[in-house]
Amino acid sequence: MTALVLEEKGRLALREIAVPDTLGPQDVRIAVHTVGICGSDVHYYTHGRIGPFVVDAPMVLGHEASGTVTEVGAEVTTLSVGDRVCVEPGVPDMASRAAKMGIYNVDPAVTFWATPPVHGCLTPSVVHPAAFTYRLPDAVSFAEGAMIEPFAIGMQAAARARITPGDTALVYGAGPIGVMVALAALAGGCARVIVTDLSRPKLDIVSQYDGIEGVEPKDLADAITGATGDWGVDVVFEATGAAPVIARMADHARPGGTIVLVGMPPEPVPVDIVSLQARELRIETVFRYANVYDRAIALIASGKVDLKPLITGTFPFDRSIEAFDRAVEARPTDVKLQIEMP
Ligand code: NAD
Ligand code: ZN
Repeated sequence: MTALVLEEKGRLALREIAVPDTLGPQDVRIAVHTVGICGSDVHYYTHGRIGPFVVDAPMVLGHEASGTVTEVGAEVTTLSVGDRVCVEPGVPDMASRAAKMGIYNVDPAVTFWATPPVHGCLTPSVVHPAAFTYRLPDAVSFAEGAMIEPFAIGMQAAARARITPGDTALVYGAGPIGVMVALAALAGGCARVIVTDLSRPKLDIVSQYDGIEGVEPKDLADAITGATGDWGVDVVFEATGAAPVIARMADHARPGGTIVLVGMPPEPVPVDIVSLQARELRIETVFRYANVYDRAIALIASGKVDLKPLITGTFPFDRSIEAFDRAVEARPTDVKLQIEMP
């Protein structure tokens, strides 16, 4: 099968590759339609590794997929041939203790598309467990279906925050993840969401949404005072992964408020614990997501969350390498680039 293969750091090829594609009794085969390019795909391309995960053999990239079911395993009752679907790319050991507790995202045995040594989905056909494949309502396009994966991270962050209706939130970072977090926080009941980033174009994109206000760092203190007086925000979401932000992430949190750590700093960062304790802040962490796909799809289908303005470029599969080189440019006006199968 032809696939977009990361041969090694810095070298992509569109070529034939043999990937495991035996259809188990609980699996479905999916004709891939749309795949979004994620920061992690780009990072494997440019750096050849993310933390302990090292690309030391050719690997198919991509983990944000939608498509159409073409074959179902003998025991599958929930999906049929022809169903339009999107795919949750992380699959745990269903018998594991973590899976039984519902925290399958932190199962040590989880396998995740395009995380070495597991191949991703930038190929015309994939096999996946039906339990991690979700039917798309007619109102949700393939392009939106491929956005469910990054939106699921925002959903997980909003769920971990335990938002109370009417909360005010502050999101650090207006990259794709920060935008997803802001939209999920708003959908999750926040009355207003302030987003800050160094990049003005990114703030302009996120500010298109009613209820979300993009603010430059120099204006942030005034915006927080304007929104909350000298009290502070109920929830802070950290979605930059940048050490200088993390060092100051609690500055605008109210007493008894919550900080949700989404960004992943490449190196350990020092944090002033006493400043957190003095306000009894609650710290939550996020690793991907668990049990949020159904609700993410429902929000898109209801029209309450519109991800379409965030899809800023679509490339055909035969121009995948060009799409990745464009993603490497990291234009501030490119929120999500996608690749479509022929
Ligand atoms: P990104 O690089 O596109 O976005 C980060 C944003 O932070 C950029 O827009 C940048 O301008 C902004 N930023 C950097 N320094 C800043 C500062 N001092 N003040 C304000 N803004 C600043 O990355 P992304 O794809 O949006 O991902 C964001 C983070 O989330 C990354 O650390 C990524 O690794 C992490 N992530 C975590 C999970 C998870 O499961 N927890 C999943 C996916 C991504
Ligand atoms: Zn991703």
